[in-house]
Amino acid sequence: MNAPATLRGESTRRRGPALDVAVVGGGMVGAAAALALARAGFATALVEAREPTAWSAQHEVDLRVVGLAPSSIALLHELGVWPSIRDARVGPYAHMHVWDAETGAAIHFDAATEGRDLLGYIVENNLVQWRLWQALESAGVQRICPAHVSGYEVLDDRIQFTLADAQPLSARLLVAADGAGSPLRALAGIETEGREYAQRGVVAHVVTERPHEHTAWQRFIDTGPLALLPLADGRSSIVWSLPEAEAQRVMALDDQAFMDALGVASDFRLGRITACTPRAAFPLKLQLAKTYQAERLVLLGDAAHMVHPLAGQGVNLGLRDVLELRDSLLAARDAGLDIAAAHVLRRYARRRRSADTLDALGFDALARIYQWHAAPLVAARGLGVRLLDRLGPLKRRLAEHAAGV
Ligand SMILES: Cc1cc2nc3c(=O)[nH]c(=O)nc-3n(C[C@H](O)[C@H](O)[C@H](O)COP(=O)(O)OP(=O)(O)OC[C@H]3O[C@@H](n4cnc5c(N)ncnc54)[C@H](O)[C@@H]3O)c2cc1C
Repeated sequence: MNAPATLRGESTRRRGPALDVAVVGGGMVGAAAALALARAGFATALVEAREPTAWSAQHEVDLRVVGLAPSSIALLHELGVWPSIRDARVGPYAHMHVWDAETGAAIHFDAATEGRDLLGYIVENNLVQWRLWQALESAGVQRICPAHVSGYEVLDDRIQFTLADAQPLSARLLVAADGAGSPLRALAGIETEGREYAQRGVVAHVVTERPHEHTAWQRFIDTGPLALLPLADGRSSIVWSLPEAEAQRVMALDDQAFMDALGVASDFRLGRITACTPRAAFPLKLQLAKTYQAERLVLLGDAAHMVHPLAGQGVNLGLRDVLELRDSLLAARDAGLDIAAAHVLRRYARRRRSADTLDALGFDALARIYQWHAAPLVAARGLGVRLLDRLGPLKRRLAEHAAGV
């Protein structure tokens, strides 16, 4: 398929309230939102600051990979893009094994026990974003790229926003999907709460001596969790959460020393690490917008919430925002209401913020529990994990929740 034409010219600069929704930010979440809303019949535009890179099987696997839960795959399926993602390059996993470095206590999730074929897929961020972008044109989404919103003004029946060096545009609703640093959130005066983990997630793709067995492995170490996620080509993608100074030290190691250190950190679960790609490191923090809503504006994806990667849920939460927003807007339209009326946006904002808060605090608690050092607490943690592994119904509830069931 050819690269989707990106519109920059006057044809995209509609005046008046011709647009129902303008989504700002075309990452995985924003692009999915634009596609879902256009497919639901809303006149939609997508404003993105950077032209996405075309995905190619010839390119090295993107360093940013995500574990997609069944709820996310169902949405991508519904949007018609999942088959072209699945057939390109994905790492299916049927098991998840999480263990505690200090006590050895482990919890194991099995797709078969949950009555499913798979628990999820490890997928490149760039692949999902690109497939979504390819689908935007036929869905009638106006793509305005490269462009960024520099300000906005709320009018009676719409919101008018300014793009650098261009005529203002207006829509009934502005959707901020512009990432964790969301400039639109700042423009709307929405504050955030949370905490810095003072940690970085070091990522790389590695070759291991033994096969990954289509299992997502995660070892909880007192410095932070280390995940080894199965890639389609037999390698594993690592997310190694480390305190800031330790992350810097690990980033500065030469490849052999890095692979040796990683082997030790993974307790050689997959044997020695025999090759690795260049590394990258991301700062980790818990961040929740105090509200997901302003006048004629909503937040979604990382603009609304940023969670610890230990549960691999960041994008999955963002895609659940997309579903909730689409359903709220559809219900409003069916009832003949203004889709950006305050009470319509409140329904979306309340539901998603409370669900995200529960998840974010749960992941945060898990991150804290694994930093316990006192012997009685460590022993209690080990006991708790062993108990959880044997408590079928509770374990199933956890697995269903992660799957978005
Ligand atoms: C180490 C690590 C591991 C992770 N692992 C997982 C995982 O296993 N599973 C999972 O679900 N999640 C995971 N995540 C989280 C996941 O990567 C993010 O939640 C997700 O990428 C956020 O998507 P988004 O579309 O909301 O934001 P982004 O991907 O940040 O997209 C925002 C977009 O907005 C654009 N933009 C910004 N400002 C403007 C502007 N003013 N105007 C126009 N456009 C603008 C940007 O160019 C960008 O394209 C992980 C994160 C990290 C750091």
